Amino acid sequence: MKKLIAGNWKMNGSLTANDALVRELLRGLEGDAGCIVAVCVPAPYLSQVQMLRAGSALELGAQDISEHAEGAYTGEVSGAMLKEFGVRYVIVGHSERRQYHGETDAVVADKTKAALAAGITPIVCVGETLAQRDAGRTVDIVKRQMAAVIHTNGHCISEIVVAYEPVWAIGTGRTATPGEAQQVHAVLRAQLKAATPNADRVHILYGGSMNAGNAAALLAQPDIDGGLVGGASLKATDFLQIVRAAR
Ligand code: PEP
Repeated sequence: MKKLIAGNWKMNGSLTANDALVRELLRGLEGDAGCIVAVCVPAPYLSQVQMLRAGSALELGAQDISEHAEGAYTGEVSGAMLKEFGVRYVIVGHSERRQYHGETDAVVADKTKAALAAGITPIVCVGETLAQRDAGRTVDIVKRQMAAVIHTNGHCISEIVVAYEPVWAIGTGRTATPGEAQQVHAVLRAQLKAATPNADRVHILYGGSMNAGNAAALLAQPDIDGGLVGGASLKATDFLQIVRAAR
């Protein structure tokens, strides 16, 4: 299985900055990247990046999706709308959305379902806080978050991407060690195996301060199938180095 490296730009960018960043990425990705590469961009820039990436292997992603199909949900963006802009991936249940926007496990499960219904691959984020890790609850927490998504999505579960993102490692410069990450990835793989015969086909990404220096060791773990990259995805040279480590 080819690894998947997905950049999460978060709420960063501008027309000018995106243009330069994507052009530099496209130059670096010429030829066979050896892995799948995506950038998950703020919704207003989907159209811009869709045009810039046209004809290339760079995949387009969004950062959120409404759990509803259409209607009176001011400010929301539906799966069908994302699909019209060539979106292949959408991040669902990022810890920043769980924390600042009150997204519950049930909402995350419904958003996953909405993405699948629109033909978009959800990148479902799970992960524990530092307090939860210190209390020895990491496995309970990630299994509970995954269980909600499995319960709502049944046999479609092999169509999702999972991202293990320990909250204490996001944007902090502190990374889980390859061993710590692998332990949780193995738990998630086993949970998926209990739900689908195709669990080995599911990409399980690691996210949390992945950078050019630590990517290779993380990506060498047997159950780490790629990365969800925040800060380092905003610098083309750093992001391309992570992509090279994923070959
Ligand atoms: C993220 O936002 O998903 C993330 C992993 O961020 P960072 O790489 O900056 O820790």
